[in-house]
Amino acid sequence: MKLAKGLALNGHPSGRHFLQIPGPTNVPDRILRAMDYPTIDHRGPEFQALGKSVLEGIRSIFQTEQPVIIYPASGTGAWEAALVNTLSPGDKVLMCETGHFASLWKRLAERLQLDVMFIPGDWRHGANPQRLADELRKDQAHSIKAVCVVHNETSTGVTSQIAAIRHAMDEAKHPALLMVDTISSLASVDYQHDAWGVDVTVAGSQKGLMLPPGLSFNAISAKALKASESAKLPRSYWDWQDMLGPNAQGFFPYTPASNLLYGLHEAIAMLQEEGLPQVFARHQRHAAATRAAVGAWGLEVLAKNPKEYSPALTAILMPDGHSADAFRKIALERFNLSLGQGLGKVSGKVFRIGHLGDFNDLMLMGTLSGVEMALAIAKVPHQPGGVRAAMDILQR
Ligand SMILES: *Cc1c(COP(=O)(O)O)cnc(C)c1O
Repeated sequence: MKLAKGLALNGHPSGRHFLQIPGPTNVPDRILRAMDYPTIDHRGPEFQALGKSVLEGIRSIFQTEQPVIIYPASGTGAWEAALVNTLSPGDKVLMCETGHFASLWKRLAERLQLDVMFIPGDWRHGANPQRLADELRKDQAHSIKAVCVVHNETSTGVTSQIAAIRHAMDEAKHPALLMVDTISSLASVDYQHDAWGVDVTVAGSQKGLMLPPGLSFNAISAKALKASESAKLPRSYWDWQDMLGPNAQGFFPYTPASNLLYGLHEAIAMLQEEGLPQVFARHQRHAAATRAAVGAWGLEVLAKNPKEYSPALTAILMPDGHSADAFRKIALERFNLSLGQGLGKVSGKVFRIGHLGDFNDLMLMGTLSGVEMALAIAKVPHQPGGVRAAMDILQR
């Protein structure tokens, strides 16, 4: 395989690549091996057993008893599916500018001819439950049909408080659907589709679920399913009804991504073996150690509110006059370490450390060592000692 120029110049890079972007994440060997299996007849009995198993098992990951649709698509497809199945042209949708991904979902909604109200944000805070409730209270006619929130804003490392948003919507006594993007939080950050009263949860395979890109999900409530009966946006490939019929027997209406489903079967087993509470605690711990390193370096995390610090990734502000991308290039070329780039408004100004998915203490220490060395090589003003500070947390 052709590698980045710097690495190719040095010949074969020995050892493992450190893929520390916040998705796609490192795919564990167990999952790679589970997918290394002949593709089977997707209308046969062997597939049926697999289909039934993953369609049932994935519900536990969303913490739901309700149906979860699995698409052979990237997360963006599942964003579209959530909207076209539940809404009609011209419907009002309330969204929050938490960062780049919220902005992309908004653009997608506008292209579908939805009327989006976008609550502005500074890309350093999550969706504000009170602000949302204020807009809903003003909407006496109930013309707002959906509230759409990104749970974990991957461009900023800020996690919004979905339970508080649900509570605020209930207080406002507004019937809008609640739709949540959990593409970079599912299976990394506690998320409860049923208990939090979410109507459509959108997710993807290549982040917390530890799979390659190519699958995405809609977990749907009874209320969302009801809304789909009268929703008028055109849809065909994404139609929930087409899926739910065959899904009941473990089948799909068109060719599913069979090999990714083998991988999903293994991912669910791994998450259940570790236990979701343990998985969430592990992510919290690695996030805390990462922030300790950032603090010791004298750098600043982009997230402003400690209650909204993301357990899945940390976005770090570059000191003025220094390019995050030049620094990331050094990390890649010298240490075979991929860090997340700044997206949209914060392009070049932040870099992101992904600490989600199949990840452990020493992988984090390797990552932070690479960051600290690359900071020195790039002559980014900082104090040494970030790695030590992270160790102090991890050895507790
Ligand atoms: C990665 C990501 C997306 C986009 O998913 P794709 O699989 O690239 O289409 C959307 N939202 C969030 C929060 C993400 O992290």
